[in-house]
Amino acid sequence: MNRRSFLKTSAGVGTLATLKLNAKSSEIFKGSNEKGVASVCEMCSTRCPIEAKVVDGKCVFIQGNSKFSSNKTSVCARGGAGVNQLYDDQRLVKPLIRDGKRGSGKWKEASWDEALDFCAKKLNEIKDKYGPQAVVFTSKSGESHTQLVNLACAYGSSNIYSHWSCCPITEKIAVPHTFGSSPKRDFANAKYIVNFGHNLFEGIVISDTKKLAKFANDKSTKLLVLEPRFSGVAAKADEWLPIRPGTDLAFLMALIHVWLRDGKYDKKFVEKYTVGLEELKMAVKDSTPKWQESHTGISADTVERVADEIYKASPKVIIDWGHKTTTTRAEYQRTRAICIANALMGNFEKEGGIYFGKNSKTFNTLCGEELFPVLANPNSVFKVPKTPRIDGCGEDGHRHKFIPRKHGVLMDIVPAILSQKPYPVKGWVSTRFNYLINVAGEVDAIKAIKELDFVLAIDIYESDFAHFADVILPVATYLERDEGIQDKSGTAPGFYMRNKVVEPVGGTMGGYELFRELARRLNIDKDYSWNTVAEYRMQQAKGNAELIASLEKDGYVGWKVPKVYYREPKFISKFVEKYPNASQFVDENGNMSSLMKFKTPSGKIELFCAQVEEALPGEGCLHTKDMDCYDGYDLCLMSGKTPIHTNGHTQNIKVLNDMMSEAPIWIHPNTAKKQGLKDGQRVLVRNKFGEGRAKIMFTEGIREDALFVYHGFGHISSGLKRTNGVGFNQSKILNPADGPVCGTMVTNVGVELVKI
Ligand code: SF4
Repeated sequence: MNRRSFLKTSAGVGTLATLKLNAKSSEIFKGSNEKGVASVCEMCSTRCPIEAKVVDGKCVFIQGNSKFSSNKTSVCARGGAGVNQLYDDQRLVKPLIRDGKRGSGKWKEASWDEALDFCAKKLNEIKDKYGPQAVVFTSKSGESHTQLVNLACAYGSSNIYSHWSCCPITEKIAVPHTFGSSPKRDFANAKYIVNFGHNLFEGIVISDTKKLAKFANDKSTKLLVLEPRFSGVAAKADEWLPIRPGTDLAFLMALIHVWLRDGKYDKKFVEKYTVGLEELKMAVKDSTPKWQESHTGISADTVERVADEIYKASPKVIIDWGHKTTTTRAEYQRTRAICIANALMGNFEKEGGIYFGKNSKTFNTLCGEELFPVLANPNSVFKVPKTPRIDGCGEDGHRHKFIPRKHGVLMDIVPAILSQKPYPVKGWVSTRFNYLINVAGEVDAIKAIKELDFVLAIDIYESDFAHFADVILPVATYLERDEGIQDKSGTAPGFYMRNKVVEPVGGTMGGYELFRELARRLNIDKDYSWNTVAEYRMQQAKGNAELIASLEKDGYVGWKVPKVYYREPKFISKFVEKYPNASQFVDENGNMSSLMKFKTPSGKIELFCAQVEEALPGEGCLHTKDMDCYDGYDLCLMSGKTPIHTNGHTQNIKVLNDMMSEAPIWIHPNTAKKQGLKDGQRVLVRNKFGEGRAKIMFTEGIREDALFVYHGFGHISSGLKRTNGVGFNQSKILNPADGPVCGTMVTNVGVELVKI
């Protein structure tokens, strides 16, 4: 797209650089020493567009970017606390090199030159002696993962990991196995939502949380929540069914059984757009509402009623597959069952249902002209080496065949280090991923780290992982660094970009500069086509300086395009009115059925997944054999997100720690009484995988056979002074065995409580 067409498209839309900050948001940014900077939050992985107020060079306040209409000026508690992280006197601002035993917490400060040269020397020594695959690379999500992938590929290691396997991996694999891509959920326009604990009021995604809050307050809609505890989302529900932990799959298969038994599904849609109906019928033929009663604790009558309600509300229904998909080893089947249930209701590309995400390239195709910028990907030159990985991901014939090689199975790192199989692993580079809190098996992980030749942590704090490192490189927080352009398209094209709000505190370094410089000192930087973030952005934008200028100024750039669902003639005709070229896609019924292309091997929605069946026999169609998460114990401990903290990252940030400094285990009073336990008492939580001490909290808002704890506490790093030693780290008692197909780490686990 050229400058002229960019400006032409920009004119007349509400969110571009040609417009000033609106009066409401700019009011807080008055005064000669004050300015507002538009950027992107990184206090969790949602990445909301924000505006930061800077006074005399200091960031003093953060609010949502009002130009991003889904969020407006909202941020959550964590988003507001970005300022506290930025100026926290416990964050690291100088490179540290270990000056005692690993894990002793003894460090000496080093210059960037000294620390980077030392890292390069150690990493090159490992490469020379054992080969590049002997170093594993782990990262949190976002652009730091991209930067780490680039570095690992340039170094030559295929052992690259993101947080996926302990959080959204099933969603990332099972949903595309069904639909060929990850559809969006139209929460704003649905009439009936079935929620299996996708806790948007605690695991906040502001734009979706706002839509769900509005939905829940609407008397004409229904929010059905199935969750073993009375969570934030259960509290907002029209109906709450306290289902037994891990048994959503049985409930879903019974729903599907009823719909197929009674012929109450969208037959035309299923015939035209799906494959595998016969295999599905076979798989659910015995999954009767009566059968599911003993698994779920929900009556057969309730299943019959709910099946009827959902069918009557279709296609404006969403059966929500959530985000953190780690409830049982059968998680792949559970997520597939949810996707299949949506397909049977014929809600695809319907208002209030689910729909293809459409980016600027799609809108250009629809409009028949290059109206919106399409980004280039300067990272595409970096390819994951073909060397076999320690976890076999992406390899034919391996049980991890379907797991992307940039994401991996985290639980396989520690056994590989301890056994030195399939080959020696001698080094670990991690950027802001706290393995010891997030992945099953804390005790073995510490043992493994201590055996390595070199450990590099890139972090803001001395996290638990960083505590055991040889070098910690203090990375700049998101408020101190520029990053690349990201696609934020939803129902219309849009982009956002993280802009530096203030200069780095104490000389910390942004990820782009840090990884680029490390690559240079490792002498592996021949494929880097940029030296600075500015150059990187310009390559992404293909020289479109106006787009970059708009994003520097406004943080978010979007276009007002009429919403289009490919199976909604009334929306399609409005779209065609504005973009007449789109008429070429409209069929005789007023739909855009030629665009209903699913990127699956069959080109259709797969109710039965032949590629999975072929590689992993028995997994191609629904089954319940891995559903149990009690493992012979009477109690199942579940975990979840709190709205105050992000995983294990934020417990040490003062303002958030003041709001929530501990997370006791929820227990029903009747369960506690049976064991003679008192409210607030400390107990030993144990199972065959490990044990840990925790405080209990009585609540009737949980089933008697379940326990619940907020994830992210139980830190052991002496550098996290506010939170060190407080709370329970659930990773101590998690099963390190992953779930079939997706390599999911399971966060529901059978336990017993012992009085201490
Ligand atoms: S949900 Fe909160 S923490 Fe996450 S990006 Fe948005 S404002 Fe930041």
